Amino acid sequence: MAANLLDGTSVAKAIKEEVAAAVAEYRERDLRPGLAAVLVGNDPASHIYVSSKVKTCEALGLYSEKIELPETTSTAELLALVQELNARDEIDGILVQMPLPAHIDAKVILTAVDPGKDVDGLHPVNAGRLALNEDGLRPCTPAGIVEMLERYDIKISGANVVVLGRSRLVGLPMALLLLHKNATVTVCHSRTRDLPAVTGRADILVAAIGRMAMVDGSFIKPGAVVVDVGMNHVKSREDLERLYPDNPKRRAAFDKNGYTLVGDVNPQEAMATASYFTPVPGGVGPLTIAMLMKNTLTAMKMRRGS
Ligand code: NAP
Repeated sequence: MAANLLDGTSVAKAIKEEVAAAVAEYRERDLRPGLAAVLVGNDPASHIYVSSKVKTCEALGLYSEKIELPETTSTAELLALVQELNARDEIDGILVQMPLPAHIDAKVILTAVDPGKDVDGLHPVNAGRLALNEDGLRPCTPAGIVEMLERYDIKISGANVVVLGRSRLVGLPMALLLLHKNATVTVCHSRTRDLPAVTGRADILVAAIGRMAMVDGSFIKPGAVVVDVGMNHVKSREDLERLYPDNPKRRAAFDKNGYTLVGDVNPQEAMATASYFTPVPGGVGPLTIAMLMKNTLTAMKMRRGS
């Protein structure tokens, strides 16, 4: 039987509706969560991401500011801006879009953001709070995955979970969040031996490695829940036909754009083996912005005590 799809777009819509309703109530009390999105340089993908974050703020009633700085900005200049944003009471969330130009010390900048305004959850203080299961701001993508699993009533407590990838942004916080939900968690990475033998024990498998469709059926226990975080461009027709055989919609997108997307999981094989699977696009992707909005609201509540 084919796997059920975990529809991240609907879950994200529900989260955004909840945030919008809460924001409307706060605004009646003259409180409005505010997000400052800082973009340095000309990376086209970063421009698209930041614009869509700011647009989502507007749609949900949050205050937002998009601050664009030239490629030549120094670490000291960006640091001064972050400190200014830290001091402004109406700014609850500060997002510095990554990657920063190579000459800027990203670690210095991320550590300078007030942990109470760190809506990406990347500050070492928030990473520490997550490790200790204390209240704090959590990285958006893994926090969104937990929301999705819970809203689909997928049992996390007691489940054998395997997280493929250990990045600061996804894999590591994902493992910690699920551990704190009482899953038995194994984390795999590039040095793990015999991956399919390890992942094949997972009731819930989260793939976040950035390797095009590497996770095939041999990695998946029949009936497992498979969450695919990866976002990879399929650029060759051979890969297109291999990953999406007899799929006119994908073929049309490929012909129009020169690529289509695939995750870290082979979609055909996951659909044939798993019980639940996140599509790419439309699975994990939409959850990230929704959780950024939720984090900005949470940051306001935590910092302004309301
Ligand atoms: P990353 O920082 O590059 O980390 C990749 C992780 O995967 C590392 O821990 C690495 O192991 C591990 N890895 C790489 N190749 C492997 C292999 N062959 N076998 C086993 N492990 C391997 O990537 P990331 O930021 O976590 O992102 C992962 C993927 O998720 C990317 O495709 C990214 O585009 C996507 N993503 C999507 C969203 C979304 O909203 N949908 C958000 C964030 C990221 P080592 O630690 O040993 O190097």
